[in-house]
Amino acid sequence: MERAEADRAGAPAPTSDAIIIGAGMSGLYMLYRLRAADLKASVFEAGTGVGGTWYWNRYPGARFDSESYSYGYSFSPELLQDWSWSEHFAAQPETLRYLNYVADKFDLKRDIHFNSRVASAHYQAASGTWEVRLADGACHRARFLITAIGLLSAPTLPRLAGLDSFRGQSFHTAAWPHTPVSFAGKRVAVLGTGATGVQTIQEVAKTAGHLSVLQRTPNWCAPLHNSKIDAASQRQIKASYPEIFARCRETFACFLHTPDPRATFAVSAAEREAFFEKLYAERGFGIWQGNFRDILTDRAANAAISAFVAGKIRARVHDAEVADKLIPKDHGFGTRRVPLETSYYEVYNQPNVRLVDLRQTPIERITPDGVKTSAATHAFDIIIYATGFDAITGSFDRIDIRGRNGHPLKAKWSDGPKTFLGVHVEGFPNMFMLMGPHTALGNIPRSIEFNVEWVANLIGYMRQRRLTRADASPQAVANWTDFVLEMGRGLLSNEVDSWMTGVNSNVEGKQTRIVARYSGSAPAYRQRCEEVAAQGYRELALS
Ligand SMILES: Cc1cc2nc3c(=O)[nH]c(=O)nc-3n(C[C@H](O)[C@H](O)[C@H](O)COP(=O)(O)OP(=O)(O)OC[C@H]3O[C@@H](n4cnc5c(N)ncnc54)[C@H](O)[C@@H]3O)c2cc1C
Repeated sequence: MERAEADRAGAPAPTSDAIIIGAGMSGLYMLYRLRAADLKASVFEAGTGVGGTWYWNRYPGARFDSESYSYGYSFSPELLQDWSWSEHFAAQPETLRYLNYVADKFDLKRDIHFNSRVASAHYQAASGTWEVRLADGACHRARFLITAIGLLSAPTLPRLAGLDSFRGQSFHTAAWPHTPVSFAGKRVAVLGTGATGVQTIQEVAKTAGHLSVLQRTPNWCAPLHNSKIDAASQRQIKASYPEIFARCRETFACFLHTPDPRATFAVSAAEREAFFEKLYAERGFGIWQGNFRDILTDRAANAAISAFVAGKIRARVHDAEVADKLIPKDHGFGTRRVPLETSYYEVYNQPNVRLVDLRQTPIERITPDGVKTSAATHAFDIIIYATGFDAITGSFDRIDIRGRNGHPLKAKWSDGPKTFLGVHVEGFPNMFMLMGPHTALGNIPRSIEFNVEWVANLIGYMRQRRLTRADASPQAVANWTDFVLEMGRGLLSNEVDSWMTGVNSNVEGKQTRIVARYSGSAPAYRQRCEEVAAQGYRELALS
């Protein structure tokens, strides 16, 4: 589609129809679909291998919170039969193997440039192309720019004095080394108690000489109940993939779990307690995603489930004072992402584990030997930063993206993201976002597959009609942004600081809550996207 062009330095630039940034689940499937449509696509990936999240997050204990068989790709019946997940919630090494298996099976790697971090992407109005520059200065051009850069892929370290002065080993969980790290006999600190911190802590506690958990904000955690998949269950899973994915298509957030239609107080106290007990004993996100329909919108309902989970924490942690510190006081159950755990609370009963409450004794600085809080100096051999990500918009902020008239995306989104369907940004023609802000999330691969297919269909539609440019109209963006804001109204989660509301105390300028994600149902999202397509993409400016 694209003719050869010279880059600004005069060197000939490689040509392709589409440039995809990122080789995680989104980028891999986008490449597969564009190839199937006979388009030439190049993928640029900062890492040295495929897998995205599952390539970077090699920390001990990293695993799914989605059921493995609801997470994998659904597009290839052959792939579904080829691959056997070994556990209901696979660990990171298995998922990374799976994504390599997919890339090899469909011969995707030959179009992926590894070790290639994209530094900038500028729209060239004259040629109607995107000029993409890598960190090493190489320049590539294509008609379409597809961002598959991840919603949790821009790691953040805490803003602490002395961070570089530490003489021991230190790691961010999302930049974990590819070689094993031994904790045996070591004094280890884990900073952060979100989903990643919880997984790390329960694993490191098994072998560390001594583990200090440095906690600022406790989270409401619930049991994962993981187990191996036996041969009979494996056969059953493989035979029921059509039903599994049909179920994910109809649930609120594409999980196997979906809210119970009953309201919390529409049942008796005994029934309510029994239902909570049942959910607490079941696998996965049921207690969060499959609970009474009002636990995330009604304060009294939310208080009821919070009190139930607080009771469980008190029962599992022997020291009442420690238990109390582990119970969140500033937000209700489920209003932040619920970490799923296996032995998290029991860890605090071990003699080699100590909880340091940073609300009581804040960190003053990192020292060459460890951490100095307002109360004491703690010496460590290893510090693990489980401090998460500059979520949703962070990976966009780290690329200099400019649309028409050189307008930076960062400026466009200075007071929060504005998109059409979470895919288009007005003034950034032919830039399509996969898992961008304001799209449906939930059990993410289900949303990825829908997004990718929608983008591939749009490109196919344009090619058939010899159209070369797609931009969102300002009205379409305004309507979608209003709709996203409307969907977020009344949700208790939007009243809480978290990555889901765009707050990250470690990132300058991200202290104010925004509506960063679409929080309506996935079926409603898909219906809206399908209407747009069925009406000939009228809300896009196509030329
Ligand atoms: C620890 C962890 C556990 C998770 N568990 C679940 C789960 O159980 N269920 C669920 O649904 N979701 C889960 N997620 C969310 C997960 O991110 C998605 O499920 C999914 O992997 C996203 O795929 P992606 O391809 O969109 O993004 P990613 O997997 O994040 O891939 C993005 C890729 O883009 C690359 N990239 C970014 N910027 C650039 C650049 N400038 N230049 C070049 N390359 C770039 C990155 O290196 C990365 O490889 C989890 C996330 C984390 C961090």
